[in-house]
Amino acid sequence: MQHIVIIGNGISGITAARHIRKLSDNKITVISGETDHFFSRTALMYVYMGHMKFEHTKPYEDDFWAKNRIELKRAWVTNIDFENKKLNLTGDETLNYDKLILALGSKPNKFGWKGQDLKGVQVIKT
Ligand SMILES: Cc1cc2nc3c(=O)[nH]c(=O)nc-3n(C[C@H](O)[C@H](O)[C@H](O)COP(=O)(O)OP(=O)(O)OC[C@H]3O[C@@H](n4cnc5c(N)ncnc54)[C@H](O)[C@@H]3O)c2cc1C
Repeated sequence: MQHIVIIGNGISGITAARHIRKLSDNKITVISGETDHFFSRTALMYVYMGHMKFEHTKPYEDDFWAKNRIELKRAWVTNIDFENKKLNLTGDETLNYDKLILALGSKPNKFGWKGQDLKGVQVIKT
């Protein structure tokens, strides 16, 4: 049995985890520093506008992960030792993997456009 580690619990990481589980019995660990559980990032604007609560943005019940044997780890990965297949996590923890999937997302960019730093102009990511 292989240990598949996925960094990132966004739509990419979780879709990968679900499909790997359907296809195999491998051990799966999903790591994210942001939240315990996957949430719909696209719904954040509705939370921001007050139309939804954050808890309504979770597509799966909290017991989904245990039922599907997808282990969740809340931590930031600070270093990847590709040669020894080892991750360093915040809190001085380490984790070994056989296969690693990077589903790290991205962050909003600024391009030096006129007005981008005016009061009230902002990005939404987390
Ligand atoms: C407000 C808003 C509205 C949007 N609306 C739409 C829309 O209508 N339609 C559409 O198609 N797209 C939309 N998007 C874009 C869409 O949400 C993203 O394309 C999508 O979430 C990307 O998914 P991902 O899994 O690749 O990355 P993310 O969702 O960014 O997930 C990556 C995860 O990896 C974690 N991570 C990164 N580095 C580390 C590390 N070193 N250690 C541990 N964890 C780490 C991050 O914390 C994050 O949780 C919207 C985005 C926002 C913010």
